[in-house]
Amino acid sequence: MGTGSEALWLGLVAAGGTLAAALIFSAVSALRLREAEQRLRDKEIDHQAVMDRLQENEYRLRAIIESEPECVKLQAADGTVLEINPAGLKLVDADSPEDIVGKRIYAVVAPEHAELYRENMRRVFAGEAVVYEFRSITLKGRTCWMETHAVPLRDARGAVYALLGITRDVTEHKLAEEQARRHQTELARVARLSTMGEMATGLAHELNQPLAAIANFARGCIRRLRGGDVAPSELIGPLEEVCRQAERASEVMRHVRDFVRKREPQLAGADINQIVRSVAKLTELETRQHGAAVRLELAPQLPRVLADPIMVEQVIGNLVRNSVEAMTEARSPRREITIRTGPNGGAGVEVEIADSGPGIDGALIDQVFDQFFTTKREGVGMGLSISRSIVESHGGTIRAESGAAGGATFRFSLQAAGQEAGGGERRHGLHR
Ligand code: ADP
Repeated sequence: MGTGSEALWLGLVAAGGTLAAALIFSAVSALRLREAEQRLRDKEIDHQAVMDRLQENEYRLRAIIESEPECVKLQAADGTVLEINPAGLKLVDADSPEDIVGKRIYAVVAPEHAELYRENMRRVFAGEAVVYEFRSITLKGRTCWMETHAVPLRDARGAVYALLGITRDVTEHKLAEEQARRHQTELARVARLSTMGEMATGLAHELNQPLAAIANFARGCIRRLRGGDVAPSELIGPLEEVCRQAERASEVMRHVRDFVRKREPQLAGADINQIVRSVAKLTELETRQHGAAVRLELAPQLPRVLADPIMVEQVIGNLVRNSVEAMTEARSPRREITIRTGPNGGAGVEVEIADSGPGIDGALIDQVFDQFFTTKREGVGMGLSISRSIVESHGGTIRAESGAAGGATFRFSLQAAGQEAGGGERRHGLHR
């Protein structure tokens, strides 16, 4: 073969190879394309199935929410109502969803409870599940009490994007509770009045005799002194009688003090946080009724304190009640009481009760613990004085402070159990 035909031959072989390679390549590509198309179709089918399932879930959820007899609603952080079910519309007296959806929930919250409501919303958006009660004024002006159980709703990244609230009308329950409380207060008032009345009558009777005797003996002495015919030694007898009768009167008064004191504190090792929780529970109804919220900031792992739990409960209860009364009287827009426990710098424990009320006038702050000091129209002025006696009978101290921008803070300390002077045997008296 000549070089020309060799070249042609080689050319043909090369062209054939390229053609075969191209054919193989395009066949493989077509196959891959078909595979990819198939995968895409499979994915689309999967996606559709997921979407169908999601939609089914949503329908089911919606059907449940729509038929739920309680009010179910979703709210944004600023209080905007995002969704509400028919029971909810009925509860707020809305004729159609547009009356309330897209509007702020505060449109139906009584003004004195708006701050309380806001605080609870803040807690939910911070991730807490909360239960709160508030007074509501519906869109048609009807007043009722509501109780809401609220939980945070989170997105896929865990951020809280809405509040899910279930609310019910608790007006009847509230009214019954209030009636029972009024009845109880009235009973307590009658009981107190009759006890005080009995005590006053008894006291008057008991004191009358020695006082009348003192007056008689003293008058006799004066008469004889005026007559001028008396030796000083003759006056000693009647004057001794005056002293004896005065001692008798003071004995009567001691009995009255014992009666008021009731008993010696029964000091033993106690968990201060437990005592605080129990007071918070006991005063819950009263604080809520005045639109006040109690927050507990209890330090963990505190030493046990040397205390008579009932008496320490009485002290904290007095302080909480005073705070509620001060905030109610001053119509404070924010009504918050914080009870804190913590170490007192020594081996003992300090309890702090701080409120967001008007605070105490600087000129009066030293007098608030005095007996019968009160600025209230119907006050007795004994609460803080008794509280101080109790704290001191526990070997502790109590003091009051008032913030520059208002707010009163009361702090008292208690000894750690086992730290008290003279060991566990020491007895502390009240009103001594
Ligand atoms: P009462 O409550 O009968 O007045 P208390 O001894 O408990 O008697 O209180 C004495 C006074 O101390 C009150 O009348 C009030 O003026 C003042 N006070 C007590 N607690 C507070 C408080 N949290 N905020 C403002 N003032 C207070």
